[in-house]
Amino acid sequence: MEYPESAHRKNRKRFSSGWGSLVIVLLLLLAFTLFPSFGNLIYRHLFFPAFRFVWDYTIGLLPFPLVLLVIIALVGGFIHAIIKSVRGQRNILWMLTGWLASWVASFFWMWGFHYACPNLMTYTPQQLRTADYHAWALSQAAELDSLRRLASGTLDDELPADSLRQAVKRVLREHDWPLSGAPEVHALRDGGWIRRLGIAGIYLPYAGEAYTSATFTPLARHFIMAHELSHAYGVTHEGEADYVAWQALRTSPAPALRYAGALQLFMQLRGALRAQHDSLWRHVVQQTPRLVQRDIELLRLDNGRYPEWRKGLGERVNDRYLKLMGQADGVATYDLFLDMAWQELHSSPSHEQQP
Ligand SMILES: [Zn+2]
Repeated sequence: MEYPESAHRKNRKRFSSGWGSLVIVLLLLLAFTLFPSFGNLIYRHLFFPAFRFVWDYTIGLLPFPLVLLVIIALVGGFIHAIIKSVRGQRNILWMLTGWLASWVASFFWMWGFHYACPNLMTYTPQQLRTADYHAWALSQAAELDSLRRLASGTLDDELPADSLRQAVKRVLREHDWPLSGAPEVHALRDGGWIRRLGIAGIYLPYAGEAYTSATFTPLARHFIMAHELSHAYGVTHEGEADYVAWQALRTSPAPALRYAGALQLFMQLRGALRAQHDSLWRHVVQQTPRLVQRDIELLRLDNGRYPEWRKGLGERVNDRYLKLMGQADGVATYDLFLDMAWQELHSSPSHEQQP
């Protein structure tokens, strides 16, 4: 197709501005990766808190999930490119590649640079043995027994919107983490399609807010929401996001939240033990208090109602994404939560991790 001279110029302009901004981003990413303290100062302590504040108190105040605007921008941009192409005003390949480069660059400005900044905490890999998991799980089971009784009758209570955010902020503040703005996490009435994609929750940098499915029971949802809120404040490490969620819940004044946090740790512990030693896992299941075991069964049944469309696809995509972002262990980083929790529970005050 023949394009007029002015269209060629517009094509090149759109193409070069998109790729130009991506080149700048990649150079910054390299600088932050080589000098994480530089990224920590410039991006995490200056740019991102300012973005977080302005975003949350302007566009973030709109009374609907901002993912709608993101979808409109994506679909609108795509349709715009096609129309221009059909009219012979632009070359669709020039437009789409430049446009894609702009979206990738925006991702880093809005959040992705955190991957090149230091983690929330330093911790020592614990190299826990099977016997450690077993003893820990038994002690957790005993603790859950009393927590379950305290939380009885309140497990289905919904939280006031701000209380979970405050709990997450409290944990992050203890690690001198920069905090700004008031990010949202929406439980979407999605009929469970988020879960069918193999996703429990997701933070969407373009929207500046996080999403999960309203089909999760509050007992499962509060942990997911706290995990996603930690992402909204810039925590990228998945094990750390689990750790923040667990700490936020376990130190809450609400018994239902303390129980939800302890139960999540317990389920992950049992999973780790089962992978290593089936009969010890069975012993822990036998020792699990009856009501706690029933809650775990109900959560399992609930998950069974929303099976993944392609089993393991969500995890594989997440694994690729995390590795692309420089987290070499991919989804295995989630497992480090247990190491972090162990260190938190078993360290003497003089050995507690530094931020
Ligand atoms: Zn996460």
